[in-house]
Amino acid sequence: MKVTVISNNYVHTQTVVENLMARLKHANITIDDEHPDVIITVGGDGTLLGAFHKWEHALKDVRFVGVHTGHLGFYTDWRDYELDDLVQSLEEDTGESVSYPLLETEVLAKSGEVHRYLALNESTIRKVNQTMVADILINGHYFERFRGDGLSVATPTGSTGYNRSIGGAVINPTVNAIQLTEIASLNSRVYRTLDAPLVISEDESIQVELDTTHPHILTIDQLTYDEEILRLTYKIAEERIQFAKYRHMPFWNRVQDAFIEGADD
Ligand code: NAP
Repeated sequence: MKVTVISNNYVHTQTVVENLMARLKHANITIDDEHPDVIITVGGDGTLLGAFHKWEHALKDVRFVGVHTGHLGFYTDWRDYELDDLVQSLEEDTGESVSYPLLETEVLAKSGEVHRYLALNESTIRKVNQTMVADILINGHYFERFRGDGLSVATPTGSTGYNRSIGGAVINPTVNAIQLTEIASLNSRVYRTLDAPLVISEDESIQVELDTTHPHILTIDQLTYDEEILRLTYKIAEERIQFAKYRHMPFWNRVQDAFIEGADD
């Protein structure tokens, strides 16, 4: 078993990392920052998102484990006071994992270049300073013309992130689907969109064709790209993220714990 540890810079996190490192050493678990089997993140869900992007080229070979230094997270099953249990689980590891879908975003730039990005949470597209106008196609067929602030396409694990804040549905990550959610669409007698979140399945795709006279901002999780974009194609990626399966917390318990006041009562 080879592990690497990725953390944020908060003082409390660094104390947790020191404690974790001491326990890993005591358990004779090898630290390998080049070729780890398991990537342990210490911090928040944001820390795990950063680790995902660092290791997105090697998703077949690595599994993730997240330790949260605050509340329980969506990618971070372990709390900072459970390090002994975590190290014991690593020692007893049988290689079991649970995997979740990722979002593939293919960008056709005005220059003709094509870029491909993987997102764990979501991708958003917005126009700088002006109403965004975009044609939305589903599986290559024209669906609607969108006018508004922008669009978000989220994975099921990302559905509890930005997607939820803009009125998207929370989706159990065992469902292989992605969700398109509008950001402040203009809807009137003249302009009309579906004005509701839309979920597509694994063999479908969403294309967004943009007016390139003004720049757009594309986000992939916490990363931002400033590109002149002609078309975006969104679909479920072939790659999946794998988490080491040491114990199971039902998804809806986690949602309740995160969002429903008094859930602990
Ligand atoms: P951030 O702006 O520093 O933190 C955003 C917050 O979203 C943090 O509290 C983070 O949890 C939480 N979060 C991240 N992924 C989540 C998920 N899948 N389900 C529920 N909560 C989640 O940004 P960041 O830490 O770099 O993370 C980027 C992500 O934050 C984006 O992908 C987006 O989904 C989310 N975000 C949400 C909003 C919003 O809801 N209005 C705005 C900006 C970004 P931790 O505290 O555990 O890290």
